[in-house]
Amino acid sequence: MIEQPYVYRRAELAEPDWTRFPGWAQVTREEWESAQWQRAHCVKNIKQLRQVLGSGLSEEFCADLERDQRERATMSMLVPPQMLNTMAPATAAGEAGFTDAFYADPVRRYMIPVFSDRRTDWPSHPYASRDSLHEAEMWAVEGLTHRYPTKVLAEVLPTCPQYCGHCTRMDLVGNPTPVIAKHKFALAREDRLAAMIGYLKATPGVRDVVVSGGDVANLPWPRLEAFVAALLEIDSIRDIRLASKALMGLPQFWLSDEVRAGMTRLGTTARDRGVSIAIHTHVNAAQSVTPLVAKAARAMLETGIRDVRNQGVLLCGVNDSVGALLDLSFTLLDGANIMPYYFYMCDMIPGSEHWRMSLAQAQTLQHQIMGYLPGFATPRIVCDVPYVGKRWVHQVSRYDTELGISYWTKNYRTAVEADDPLALRREYAYFDPIHTLPTAGQQWWLDRAPGPEAVGLTPVGTSLSPAAQ
Ligand code: SF4
Repeated sequence: MIEQPYVYRRAELAEPDWTRFPGWAQVTREEWESAQWQRAHCVKNIKQLRQVLGSGLSEEFCADLERDQRERATMSMLVPPQMLNTMAPATAAGEAGFTDAFYADPVRRYMIPVFSDRRTDWPSHPYASRDSLHEAEMWAVEGLTHRYPTKVLAEVLPTCPQYCGHCTRMDLVGNPTPVIAKHKFALAREDRLAAMIGYLKATPGVRDVVVSGGDVANLPWPRLEAFVAALLEIDSIRDIRLASKALMGLPQFWLSDEVRAGMTRLGTTARDRGVSIAIHTHVNAAQSVTPLVAKAARAMLETGIRDVRNQGVLLCGVNDSVGALLDLSFTLLDGANIMPYYFYMCDMIPGSEHWRMSLAQAQTLQHQIMGYLPGFATPRIVCDVPYVGKRWVHQVSRYDTELGISYWTKNYRTAVEADDPLALRREYAYFDPIHTLPTAGQQWWLDRAPGPEAVGLTPVGTSLSPAAQ
């Protein structure tokens, strides 16, 4: 037997026992498997969290959470029971050590962030910004981001059944928090969706539409089906991807009779027209892939759609190791027929430095995961570079590891730089978390913070720096 850095073992999926939580001790399987019950029992605040978990959750944790919500959180709390049940799955809420297990849990770390998780030296990078990918600047019509030549992102709604602490669309998605007011769409939903369809009919160069939000699982099913059916009517659209973390966070939605029947109708039409429909979900930890999640993914594949793929986010403290990434990828592939596709580096939004990693670390992880999974299922680790778009982490053109600044180039224009003759020759910057830099690099930033002009770049928005603590 040759010793290997990673040892593959096929994992059995398990639905943790929800009755281990005092608040759900009497919940039946029928209730648990109802999307309506799940939505009605989402945990939205500390009081509800205590009611579910009981006195096993310490006062210290609750105070830590309360401070985070008051001073740092960019997303409000919304955790479906399905997701909460996967946190600290092996520990009963009343057992000694429950709070420690809850603190350490990878799903808790990104769904229920607490103040002590975050960096106190650099909680935000000086270049962090709301809408860090400038999606709204690239709206062709409200909510329709045209960032790549042949594909668009349709933000059909600004809500989700679950809110992730690191949400890249924190500018738009979810409820306001004490530190972040949310952007509001100006147009009514029907007018927005109609304008999107109108733009796509008039723009035959677009062949690929990501239908997202938010999460499409929060759009009433008949409205979502009508929107996708309208896309299927446009001859130039060949790929449709439905973005839904709820396939994992609320699989009960995708398993409901209404949704299965509707997806079968859409899948049949798509096949008849030679169009691919796929669901893109967002799973960051292997423990989230439970039998119900696998059942939902398989139910969707049975409707005739082309694929269910995963776009996870690479997050320190959650999945920043070769073992975590490969365990997750194999569990998705073996247990649920979900294709591991991408891991995004966490974007440069305010308050995300404790989750972000350097480009060098991401490159190392990409190297470490090669060769274990089938090539078609080996996820690519990508950096979404502001104004450039997704780039494989090894595509960097220049990298100053002392200052933590990587430089990238692009090979297409967006409307934003339509008249810029240098757009395709310019270098665009991405920044490592400052706490990961060598001492000289950290000092360089300390001497300059928060002055982005120091690196000769146009400021894209600044946030908390040490000087603002
Ligand atoms: S599901 Fe996606 S859009 Fe919704 S909060 Fe999470 S990351 Fe943001």
